[in-house]
Amino acid sequence: MAIEKIWVLAEAGEGGPTPISLELLTEARSLAGTVEAVAWGADVASLAGALGEYGAATVYDVGDLGGSLPGVPVAAAMAALIESGNKPDAILIPATYDGRDVAGRLSARLDVPVLTNVTGLVAGDTLASQHPIFGGSHIVTARFTGEGPGIFVIRAKSFAPESAGGGAANVVAAPAPDTGASNGANITERHVEERSGPKLDEAAVVVSGGRGLGEAANYALIEELAKLLHGAAGASRAIVDAGWVPYSHQVGQTGKTVKPTVYVACGISGATQHLVGMKGSKNIVAINKDAEAPIFSVADLGIVGDVHKVLPQLIEALKAKG
Ligand SMILES: Cc1cc2nc3c(=O)[nH]c(=O)nc-3n(C[C@H](O)[C@H](O)[C@H](O)COP(=O)(O)OP(=O)(O)OC[C@H]3O[C@@H](n4cnc5c(N)ncnc54)[C@H](O)[C@@H]3O)c2cc1C
Repeated sequence: MAIEKIWVLAEAGEGGPTPISLELLTEARSLAGTVEAVAWGADVASLAGALGEYGAATVYDVGDLGGSLPGVPVAAAMAALIESGNKPDAILIPATYDGRDVAGRLSARLDVPVLTNVTGLVAGDTLASQHPIFGGSHIVTARFTGEGPGIFVIRAKSFAPESAGGGAANVVAAPAPDTGASNGANITERHVEERSGPKLDEAAVVVSGGRGLGEAANYALIEELAKLLHGAAGASRAIVDAGWVPYSHQVGQTGKTVKPTVYVACGISGATQHLVGMKGSKNIVAINKDAEAPIFSVADLGIVGDVHKVLPQLIEALKAKG
């Protein structure tokens, strides 16, 4: 039995579908003959061009959810489509807050299991998924044995987005059925995190700091270097847990996955849980005073030195360059 149809849950971000939505569409079209997207919001039609360009023939429009969280109505709309006979072989869902919520609720509605933390997909008679375990040191392969559809929750940056050059997707209305009291929670306020410079998981350069910085105030060095390199500032979990920087800066297994052109790790030991979130970077620079630190095993350029000396010198040199 070949994989004929895959759905991708597509989320809207700043100015179009989120990068992970395009990553999943790209992968889906290499696996199945028909790729369709499911999206929600006040203006799904405005996403149809980009979704089509990356491979979606159709986008099911759940519509404007008003003040609702997406989990309940989007899962209900997808389940209704499937129950009406429109059944994909697999559903690819971004490992985001909303994506996970939709996946869990869809799983319960359809009474099918979910595979989470997926970083690779392998086509065969059915779809197999790859999952890093033990902090990314081993990969296990899993596949569903039941009827399906298979629900896969996939980590960002698992696939590279690539345009297929296709025309706009057809927009098909797929409103959620009445979900009663289960959709009782309402969004009352939204806070957009302040950010200057590129997003951490989209930046071409990421400069991250770890416990080797010594104290919270020294994180300013990381921010300054990141700014000079037009990059984003990241962090190890140790300094997030210590309250030096917010969780949104965390790189690693339980934080963000980044794949920049240049990743600069400053005072970070290189625990497997950190490496799993950044080892796909094209060029890795590590600054650590311990020549035996595991971070050097993945570094393309290693500087054995004290961050308090090396970082100010790097910053001065970049400023002098103008
Ligand atoms: C389930 C689980 C999930 C996890 N998820 C993540 C995750 O997503 N991301 C993550 O980062 N971690 C994660 N961790 C934690 C991880 O195991 C490490 O504890 C953490 O990455 C260590 O952070 P660090 O490298 O900043 O600190 P440390 O391990 O303490 O390393 C500090 C480094 O700084 C160096 N150093 C000290 N002083 C200086 C100096 N003056 N100049 C230069 N170098 C100096 C030291 O030599 C050392 O190598 C997770 C752990 C678990 C159990």
